[in-house]
Amino acid sequence: MKGRVIRALSGAAAMALAVAAAPLLAEGPTDADLMNDAASTGDVLTYGMGPQAHRFSALNQINAGNVAKLVPAFAASLGGEKQRGQEAQPIVYDGTIYVTGSYSRLFAFDARTGEEKWQYDARLPDGIMPCCDVVNRGAAIYGDKIIFATLDARLVALNRLTGKVIWNKQIADYQAGYSATAAPMIVKGKVIYGNSGGEFGIVGAVEARDVETGELLWRRPTIEGHMGTLNGKDNGITGKTNATWQGDLWKTGGGATWLGGTYDPDTNLLFFGTGNPAPWNSHLRPGDNLYTSSTLAIDPDTGVIKWHFQTTPHDGWDFDGVNEFIPFDATINGKPMKLGAKADRNGYFFVLDRTNGKFLGAHKFVMQTTWADGFNPKTGRPNYNDANRPGAPGAAGAKGSSVFASPSFLGGKNWMPMAYSNDTGLFYIPSNDWGMDIWNEGIAYKKGAAYLGAGFTIKPIAEDHIGALRAMDPKTGKIVWEYKNKAPLWGGVLTTGGNLVFTGTPEGYLKAFDAKTGQELWKFQTGSGVVGSPVTWEQDGEQYVAVMSGWGGAVPLWGGEVAKSFKDINQGGALWVFKLPK
Ligand code: CA
Ligand code: CA
Repeated sequence: MKGRVIRALSGAAAMALAVAAAPLLAEGPTDADLMNDAASTGDVLTYGMGPQAHRFSALNQINAGNVAKLVPAFAASLGGEKQRGQEAQPIVYDGTIYVTGSYSRLFAFDARTGEEKWQYDARLPDGIMPCCDVVNRGAAIYGDKIIFATLDARLVALNRLTGKVIWNKQIADYQAGYSATAAPMIVKGKVIYGNSGGEFGIVGAVEARDVETGELLWRRPTIEGHMGTLNGKDNGITGKTNATWQGDLWKTGGGATWLGGTYDPDTNLLFFGTGNPAPWNSHLRPGDNLYTSSTLAIDPDTGVIKWHFQTTPHDGWDFDGVNEFIPFDATINGKPMKLGAKADRNGYFFVLDRTNGKFLGAHKFVMQTTWADGFNPKTGRPNYNDANRPGAPGAAGAKGSSVFASPSFLGGKNWMPMAYSNDTGLFYIPSNDWGMDIWNEGIAYKKGAAYLGAGFTIKPIAEDHIGALRAMDPKTGKIVWEYKNKAPLWGGVLTTGGNLVFTGTPEGYLKAFDAKTGQELWKFQTGSGVVGSPVTWEQDGEQYVAVMSGWGGAVPLWGGEVAKSFKDINQGGALWVFKLPK
């Protein structure tokens, strides 16, 4: 609208107004707004509802006493024939809800009516290679821009009012197996993001670009031996070449940073998890294979790694290490500490000193971990069960001995984000109990081809459930309560000052639980499986809750023998928004 008014004026008056209007057009969330997102209850500006990604809102208008009355305000369809997994977390700002959809689409809906304002569809080339469905997990908002990543490994900045492209940058080569599905984050005017493709022998990296121009500022590869950059110049090799990798294997070493990161303003550190070493067959790559299956603390100003902690050294089960590392503060043994926690795919919940990466504890949060029996409290390394590592391939790459390992490679917890309640001090972990037969095979790297050297079949390990939402006390490592779900849980979690925990199920429900007891208080059938991350905000004096519905993601692609728990679930693609009746 402003642009049209300016064009209607003539000459110098238009010039003067254009100059005066320029800052107005760029109005929108600032760096300070993003850092304050957890406290500002009237909007949802960041993936994680705050840079620390607690996914906690102090709002309590909807609470354990009245949530049973929650009803839909509206739903909005993503339409089209592209209904695959909808894993996005909505962004809410200034009367608009922004959601990303399957096949790299971004939608702006009116936050009061659900009417579509605009839609952007990325033109994806043939030959993209997403490993685990054509999902997208969300966008980043800043000033006049809304920014998201696409399956052909591009980052696109759109005008948040019109959906028009402001800049569009290639971040990696999709023909080599790179893709991108995570929500970018913005810290101090930099868009910071990772890459995907760990099943194709890519090299993981974290990169920062100027949010205004999209130009690369720094790059930090996650595999030792690769050179980092800062402002176009070399900025030091990651780790020490051949310290934990043999020969040239580090050149195709994996370590994808496919889930993005969190940021802690207290320590000025970014925390990024890294994925599996490549190939999966661990006998082909002796050593710890740094920095795969780790959490990295990175300086957001330079891209330098400040500390690392490897959760699965020499990973042989595709446990990855990408899961979100959430900063939190607690008093341990009478001492106030700056901590961080990660619920890893390997079935252990890690608590570290986030100022230096020091190991403080690893607590089992799933039914079974066959591959290790706890962690050494001094070294922070797993007590490996060597017999549970799948055997080396035989002569000419013949299949090696198979083992039954638990968790399965889909993890005790996968990508779906947990929440941390500032009220209860508990983490709410969307977890799964399942195992797998896994064996190794011979493999050689070929650009753009799967680089696993392993085969697998996923199997249930319990009669009554696969999914389990668990409340973890990070001070004691104890599970305070759990809710069991028949199908695998694959959606994110939200917790609120109303003593509530929200999460979705593949069976199609968004559910609310008592945050202290785990009692189920409310559920609503959304029409398709829920694998998105719910959010809440206040608008016109009322509290709203929103979630994406649309079954998909990695589970139905790789489900093995667990598939019967979800074979009848229909696909979909809709944003659902709820509130209390007036
Ligand atoms: Ca906010
Ligand atoms: Ca992986």
